[in-house]
Amino acid sequence: MINPHPGLPELQYVKPATLKEASKFLAENVGTAKPYSGGTDSFVRLRDGVLKLDYLVDIKGLEGTKELSFDSKKGLTIGAAITMNQVACHPDVIKHYPNLAEAAGSVASYQLRNRATIIGNICNASPAGDTIGTCMILDGVLKVHGVDGVRDVPLNSFFLAPGRTVLKPGDVVVAIHLPPPPKGLVGTYKKLGRNRIGDLSIVGVAVAAYPSSDSASGYRFRIALASVAPVPFESFKAEGVLSGKKITAELIDEAAVAAMDSVTPIDDVRGSARYRKQMVKNLTREALTEVWTKLSK
Ligand SMILES: Cc1cc2nc3c(=O)[nH]c(=O)nc-3n(C[C@H](O)[C@H](O)[C@H](O)COP(=O)(O)OP(=O)(O)OC[C@H]3O[C@@H](n4cnc5c(N)ncnc54)[C@H](O)[C@@H]3O)c2cc1C
Repeated sequence: MINPHPGLPELQYVKPATLKEASKFLAENVGTAKPYSGGTDSFVRLRDGVLKLDYLVDIKGLEGTKELSFDSKKGLTIGAAITMNQVACHPDVIKHYPNLAEAAGSVASYQLRNRATIIGNICNASPAGDTIGTCMILDGVLKVHGVDGVRDVPLNSFFLAPGRTVLKPGDVVVAIHLPPPPKGLVGTYKKLGRNRIGDLSIVGVAVAAYPSSDSASGYRFRIALASVAPVPFESFKAEGVLSGKKITAELIDEAAVAAMDSVTPIDDVRGSARYRKQMVKNLTREALTEVWTKLSK
């Protein structure tokens, strides 16, 4: 009989002193060891028996993982140990990347956000990850430490499939770096869950926009979608609609339809594929209208 109240299985807690030690240990124990930060995904999967490990490698405190810093020339760096609440409440994030503060604040409940991290959200590679789309349209780049040293991985080339990324054995993501925000940036994150707090998204729509002389419309729009494809992705199709002509309510409608046409959702316990598609259209229209209203003031 399945135990309805399973506990965590026995495993070893490993606390390496350096990134080098962490990467070496992880590379020597492929399949039996994983890094973790907040543990809000890992512990649930271990408890449910979906994930089986001998070692959990705590990366909190390793070089660079506790950094949360902003510089107007360099941008924002968020270390792997930085929690959702730290991001959502940080004055520089609220001021320069308000859409990221909003996305981080949309994750689960306050209590969970005290443990959950942005890097954990990204590395878990769930199609529903609430902060991924916003980090993507802000041109996030991951700093990854592996057995051969450090390398940069742009977020838009990080995801392969649900739960699968380009990370290799021994890799530890140290931080995510976002370049300085474009001048005049306005953004939002629209999330549809089954309830207001504590649930994964049925649909997530991240929008950012700013004045741009490179675009015939005079503005550049970025749109990323969650929970409606195998991985979170940027809808270039919808963005393209908004680049060529004067922005109007009709053009926003057209872009919302293009966003809907770019998704490939599945039916699951949280919603049907058909419902998700419709809600992509509605939420994209809502997000674009809100952003455009602020931009055109
Ligand atoms: C009740 C509940 C509600 C939730 N609600 C939401 C929600 O609304 N929205 C949402 O997006 N998510 C939600 N989640 C999922 C989860 O909380 C988030 O994905 C969270 O951001 C994960 O961060 P973490 O630090 O806890 O990850 P962890 O559990 O520590 O790690 C997650 C995965 O990333 C890997 N990993 C972690 N850190 C690193 C690193 N530095 N380098 C390489 N790999 C790493 C781990 O090996 C693991 O595979 C919820 C979870 C629970 C239990």
